[in-house]
Amino acid sequence: MKSRNAVLLVLTVLACVAIVLVNWVAPPIQKTIEYTKYSTVRLNVFDTEITLIGFAESEEAFAKNAEQAFELLENLDRIFDAYNAYDGLNNLYYLNRRAAQEPVPVPRELFELISWCKQKWDENLRSTNIAMGAVLSIWHDYRTAGIASPDEAALPPMETLQAAEAHTDFQNVVLDANKQTVFYSDPELQLDIGAVAKGYAADAASALLSKSMPSFLLSLGGNVYAGEKPLDGRSAWAVGVQDPRAKALEASISGSDILDIIDVTGLSVVTSGDYWRYYTVDGVRYHHIIDPKTLMPSTQMQSVTVVCQSSILADFLSTALFVNSYEDGLALVNSLPGVEAMWVLPDGKIEYSAGMTKFVRSLQ
Ligand code: AMP
Ligand code: MG
Repeated sequence: MKSRNAVLLVLTVLACVAIVLVNWVAPPIQKTIEYTKYSTVRLNVFDTEITLIGFAESEEAFAKNAEQAFELLENLDRIFDAYNAYDGLNNLYYLNRRAAQEPVPVPRELFELISWCKQKWDENLRSTNIAMGAVLSIWHDYRTAGIASPDEAALPPMETLQAAEAHTDFQNVVLDANKQTVFYSDPELQLDIGAVAKGYAADAASALLSKSMPSFLLSLGGNVYAGEKPLDGRSAWAVGVQDPRAKALEASISGSDILDIIDVTGLSVVTSGDYWRYYTVDGVRYHHIIDPKTLMPSTQMQSVTVVCQSSILADFLSTALFVNSYEDGLALVNSLPGVEAMWVLPDGKIEYSAGMTKFVRSLQ
């Protein structure tokens, strides 16, 4: 019995020594994962072209991540849709038709977006006012008609715009956080969330992607979110800032539509520009970003690009800075930690906030 115990002891000691030796001499077997860059495009979501680039272990893994992200974006597109109804969904279209009669329970995402904007209003940031739907819808209708029949393109009468302006007070949007309901105490009030919807969506899709494919670049038209750095040796993602005055044809042939490149990781880059949506009356271009003070398309900027971590904030600010002077905008940007901006003024001159210069390729 004793000798059996002794043998067992010796064997155990030998086994331990062997384990230690193996780990010491032979390095642990490491499986190096190869990441490949994939990309895909989805059309007709958020009225724009959505591009996703990502580094994944396989094409299947990329396709799965892309599908999940697009599904989330398509769902948000329906919730934020101002023009179409969907069975059983209290989306923005439903809200704008119903909320003056009774408090309307809305999906979490819509409630979050409206509350976020109202918070900014309460902080006195009012250049981007999503409660300005009554004014914006007039411009929308005149623009749509003017694009359809350029010969009959006209400007909305100022009296009509001013009458609508009386119904743009965000105080009249009554939110109940417990019930997640929205009520309009002004029956003429309408919400237009075009200034922030893509930013909200970019944040939501990026949060999802960060979990399963953290090295990605997501672009929703002018809203870009750069995830962790690309896995091909580069230290940042390159985001092009469009030249507001590039001619479309020339640009597509020569790539000359890029004004500069912004190199970022873990940040959102959002541009508001006068070249996205506009119509022409008597040879003058009238675009889609309306200054709440003049009720007219702002003439302060050709474009403004904002860089910060939150895409909804970048989206909100790009619209706000677009309707303000460079000086006022710079003061606002300087008061906000982690926010940088680049302005293209009406004469084409470019201005940068101090911290923006570290992202702009031509300034390195
Ligand atoms: P963005 O391209 O992010 O600057 O958003 C422009 C869109 O926001 C327009 O198409 C309108 O739907 C809406 N919008 C325009 N001007 C304003 C404004 N001053 N405040 C809030 N929304 C606006
Ligand atoms: Mg915006």
